[in-house]
Amino acid sequence: MKTGSNASLGGTTYDATTGAIVFDFDGTSNFIHETTHGGQFESQNMAFEIKTGVSILQDLDDEVAAYRAQYAFDPASVSGLKSTSTANNSSEVTQSWVQGISASDGSTPYGPGGSTNTGLVPINMKSTRDDLIRAYPNAGLSVLPVTVTIKDIVPTIYYKK
Ligand SMILES: [Zn+2]
Repeated sequence: MKTGSNASLGGTTYDATTGAIVFDFDGTSNFIHETTHGGQFESQNMAFEIKTGVSILQDLDDEVAAYRAQYAFDPASVSGLKSTSTANNSSEVTQSWVQGISASDGSTPYGPGGSTNTGLVPINMKSTRDDLIRAYPNAGLSVLPVTVTIKDIVPTIYYKK
């Protein structure tokens, strides 16, 4: 998914006006990728900020799952993506491959500091503050009380209850 500006990577967002999860996609393989994120929302592995609609709690494993689902349908749609290596089978779709994906403007949306704010370790609605620190080591979360959860950090969170 993207939350940035590369439309070719598609996106999954929340529309506060309609209350719908919105899949922005280009072609069936990209649709499969984005709807995999929809499944991650259903299992509380992903959520949204209500006002902006931007996704939160996405992590590298979520992207590996989405790109592997996409690969299963259309291998070329994944092996053709520019990254630090070429994914020529599903097992080559790894965290580091995801991190290395570069957009047409040269940015790495899934890399450290990338536009998608993708967590480094698996996170979900049950993640502890320390899980979130491991996922976002540079977000300054260590100043927060140890009992803090994502619902405290993002009070305007929309998630599957
Ligand atoms: Zn994605």
